[in-house]
Amino acid sequence: MVFPGASILHTESYRMKLIKQGKVHFLQPSWGADTGVQAGFSTRNGGISRPPYNSLNLGFNTEDLGYNVDGNRSTLVRTFDLQPNQLLTVNQVHGTDILVIDQPNPDLSHFLTVEADAIITDQPGIMIGVLVADCYPVLLYCASKKVVGVVHVGWRGAAAGIIEKTISAMQVNFDCQPQELVAAVGPGIGAHRYEVDRKVRDEFRKGTGHWEKIAEETSLGKFQLDLKKSCLLQLESAGLAASSIQASDECTCCHRELFFSYRRDGGNTGRQMGFVLLEG
Ligand SMILES: [Zn+2]
Repeated sequence: MVFPGASILHTESYRMKLIKQGKVHFLQPSWGADTGVQAGFSTRNGGISRPPYNSLNLGFNTEDLGYNVDGNRSTLVRTFDLQPNQLLTVNQVHGTDILVIDQPNPDLSHFLTVEADAIITDQPGIMIGVLVADCYPVLLYCASKKVVGVVHVGWRGAAAGIIEKTISAMQVNFDCQPQELVAAVGPGIGAHRYEVDRKVRDEFRKGTGHWEKIAEETSLGKFQLDLKKSCLLQLESAGLAASSIQASDECTCCHRELFFSYRRDGGNTGRQMGFVLLEG
């Protein structure tokens, strides 16, 4: 099947497959359809929202019409034979709190107001997701303990080590060993479009300490920040094998036809989702 945007996905590092399933187009890591799990990164295509949220805007934290977002979220989950009340997202606040779901829960809608930036669960039949438009979505899967996780990684979360914290929480709560995990880093903003200032540098120096490896000073006090590399370094320092880590090469800012981008669109844009689901 041929559809717009497919040709740009032929990149030299890991090539995630662009899948069209039902109305939804999404990038899928190599383990994303293994027995017992479904995982991917939605694109902006296949929904009902009007510009500038066209069309599969999955974020309520926009000026888009709520019933369009509801319709889009429903379209996504039904693609995986779920009901809308089986989708769990939270109120992302660029912090490092992690929501742990370790028992069945009949109503996931109230978690929409819970402030957190990562979700982990061992419960089947729940699609957990993070909403992004330049920030990086990171998916985690432990096949041996049957546990999944999603992480929202903006610069604040990256500086504070949210990926390492989430992996640690998977270990503490569900006994997942880091070397058992696989990870997928979805599309986010490329370093060439992501200029930051000294405030960001100072937060990284206080936090993960990877600053020298992920930033390049382009003019006095201005830096190009490679958030994807920050994600990869955190996954490795948490103990994942390099061979267990995949990352998409697409830059959200450069690929208007596929992705929402907060910086490119001056904040007036939709949200795509990184999602993962243990099958029941
Ligand atoms: Zn770019």
